[in-house]
Amino acid sequence: ILEVREVGKSFGGLQVLEGISFSLTEGSITGLIGPNGAGKSTLVNLIGGADRPNRGEIYFHSLRVDHLPVWRIARLGLVRTFQVTRIFNDLTLRENIRLAGWTGGLRGRKLETEVDGIMQLCELETKAGVPGRDLSLPEQKRLQLARALALKPKLLLLDEVMAGLNPAELDRAIQILRVLRDRGVTMLVIEHLMRVIMGISDRVLVLHQGSLIADGPPEQVVGLSRVQEAYLGRRYVQ
Ligand code: ATP
Ligand code: MG
Repeated sequence: ILEVREVGKSFGGLQVLEGISFSLTEGSITGLIGPNGAGKSTLVNLIGGADRPNRGEIYFHSLRVDHLPVWRIARLGLVRTFQVTRIFNDLTLRENIRLAGWTGGLRGRKLETEVDGIMQLCELETKAGVPGRDLSLPEQKRLQLARALALKPKLLLLDEVMAGLNPAELDRAIQILRVLRDRGVTMLVIEHLMRVIMGISDRVLVLHQGSLIADGPPEQVVGLSRVQEAYLGRRYVQ
């Protein structure tokens, strides 16, 4: 469903990504891990069209997308969330989701039905009328996911949507992602929390200093000495 070919990105003189190549198969959940500053968010920015690679190509369903505007990429079904929550504080939760669905091309009865279904899946029905600013952190996180879902993603890029959640909330979030996978949504999940990565990933990619240093099943990848060394002395070793 996605193919990244020899992608490189630099900001000024700083090489942030170099020679990144991988592909994602439909219906899989892939974890993307790596220490702070490894280039994970930058990679998601490139795939989602928020930024352009300096080198290489990105294909979504065999269509080259690395030169397309974000809205066209989203209409194709490639949707991402942001590491920093982006919701409208003045709009209610329902309006936030509805606006995303509208952006995705849904109208009228279809839009309302879709919004209802998404609120139910994300366990947000009781919060429909609450303004964005009054939502708790876990609710904001689920709203972010809900807004992404309203764009009807085929491939969903999740950039740390679970940071700051407690274990019970994490388990709920993991459950939601499993339901999505069962519905055929392919996901690339950036998360520092090993509990999440180990719990949902079919496969894990490890980024370190702008390069992919490992790719494989989660149990195998976390056992690799080069992966453990990349995390050495960091707060995410667990
Ligand atoms: P974290 O786990 O902290 O979110 P990350 O893996 O997502 O880290 P990135 O945000 O992709 O890391 O950043 C990778 C590197 O690129 C960092 O050194 C960062 O300072 C740099 N960087 C990112 N965006 C820009 C930009 N717009 N201009 C200049 N440098 C940038
Ligand atoms: Mg990041």
